[in-house]
Amino acid sequence: MPHTLSDEFERLRLQVRHFVQEELEPISLAVETREQIPEPIVDRMRQMGLFGMPIPKAYGGLGLTTLQEVMIYEEITQTNGCYRSRIGTSNGIGSMGIVYDGTVAQKEFYLPRIACGEWSSAFALTEPNAGSDASNIATTAVLNGDHWVLNGNKIFITNADQARLFTTIAVTDEEKRARGGVTAFIVERGMPGFSVGAADVKMGLKGSHTHELIFKDCRVPAENVIGGMPMVGQGFKTAMRVLDKGRLCMAACALGAAQKIMTLCTQRMREKRQASTARKESQAAEFMLADMATQIFAARQMLYQAAQLRDDGKQITSEASMAKIFCTEMASRVADDALQIFEEEGLFTAHQIEILLRDVRLYRIYEGTSEIQRLIVSRGLLKS
Ligand SMILES: Cc1cc2nc3c(=O)[nH]c(=O)nc-3n(C[C@H](O)[C@H](O)[C@H](O)COP(=O)(O)OP(=O)(O)OC[C@H]3O[C@@H](n4cnc5c(N)ncnc54)[C@H](O)[C@@H]3O)c2cc1C
Repeated sequence: MPHTLSDEFERLRLQVRHFVQEELEPISLAVETREQIPEPIVDRMRQMGLFGMPIPKAYGGLGLTTLQEVMIYEEITQTNGCYRSRIGTSNGIGSMGIVYDGTVAQKEFYLPRIACGEWSSAFALTEPNAGSDASNIATTAVLNGDHWVLNGNKIFITNADQARLFTTIAVTDEEKRARGGVTAFIVERGMPGFSVGAADVKMGLKGSHTHELIFKDCRVPAENVIGGMPMVGQGFKTAMRVLDKGRLCMAACALGAAQKIMTLCTQRMREKRQASTARKESQAAEFMLADMATQIFAARQMLYQAAQLRDDGKQITSEASMAKIFCTEMASRVADDALQIFEEEGLFTAHQIEILLRDVRLYRIYEGTSEIQRLIVSRGLLKS
C-alpha cells in the first residue's frame, strides 16, 4: 500500500506528537479529575489547526486525507482520550454532513468557523428509543411557513456543552422514515425551543461530556436543512455516510490508546527487569507484550488500508466496520492484559492504565456497537 505523505504532513504529525508528550500528557490526570480540558489547551489545538483537519483548505481547514487524519488521531489518543473527543467530534461527525451535502452558502458560512475552532459542532442522532436502530428515531420536524418545527429528545450527545452547531437528524415523513423521510438539520445553540440538559456521568472519557438535547417546538429556519430543500428526506443517507468515516476515526482512537498502553507496559517491564534477575518469572508478561505488538501491527495495517481505500474513492462501509470491530476490541484486550502486567498498581484509581482501560471500553459502543458493526459486515456479505 503506498504511503505517500508530504513533508508538510510529517511536520504536522511531529508537532502533534510533541504537543501530546509535552503539553497534554503532563496534565492528563488533572483533566481526568477535574473533568475539564483547560481553555488554553483548546486554544493551542485551535492554533495548530486541529479543529479543521478534514475540512477542505478552501474553507480554512487543513484538508487532510482520511489516511492522514487517522494518523493524527493515532497520535493524539496516546494520552487521555478526551482530547481527541473535543476536536474529533467537531470536525468529524458534527460537521461532515455539511462538508458532504451542505449547500455552497452553508459551507461558506459554517465551515470556516468550525475549522478555526471558533464554533464547535456536535452530531445529534441517538434517542432514548433509537440507538443501534437509528431508523427508529422519534424526533419530528414539520414545515411551517419559512421554519421547521422540531420536537423530541436526543441523548448521549458529545460536546453538547461546547457546541454552537448541532447536526440534528429528524423525521420529516412518518410513512417513508429512513427511506426518504428523514432529514438532517443545522440547529444552532440559542434557536427558540432548543435546550441542553444535564451532563451524563460516564465511566470514561471524563473530560469529554455527553448531554441530553431537548427540542420543544424548536424553530429552525427552512434554509437550515443540510443541502437545502432538495435534500429534504435524504438525511438518513447523510447520517450513515458521516458514520462510515467516523468509524475509521474511532478505530484510530483505539489504536492510539493501545499503542500508548503497550509503551507503558514495555517501560514497566524494562524497569522490572533491571531490578530483578528472575527473568523466567516474567515470561507470561513477555508473551502478553508480544501479543500486544502483534495485534497492534495487524490493526494498524487494517486501518490504514481502509483509510487508503476511502481516499481512493471506494465504498468502505464494510471495511470501516471491520476496522472498528478489530481495533476497538483489540484495545480492550490490550488494556486488560496491561492490568495483569501492572498488577495491583494498575488498579489504582486514576492510574494511567486504569484511565485508558475505562476510555477504550467506550469505543466499543459509540458510533455503532461491535454487534452492529458485525451485522453490517455480515449483511454486506450475504447481499453480495
Ligand atoms: C461516550 C459516548 C458518546 C456518544 N456520543 C454520541 C453523539 O455524539 N451523538 C449521538 O447521536 N450518539 C452518541 N452516542 C450514542 C451511541 O451512538 C449509542 O449509545 C450507540 O449507538 C448504542 O445505542 P444504545 O446505547 O441505545 O444501545 P442499544 O441500541 O439499545 O443497544 C443495546 C445493546 O443491544 C445490542 N443490539 C442492539 N441491536 C442489536 C441487533 N440488531 N443485533 C444484535 N445486537 C444488538 C447493542 O450492540 C448493545 O449491546 C454516544 C455514546 C457514548 C457511550
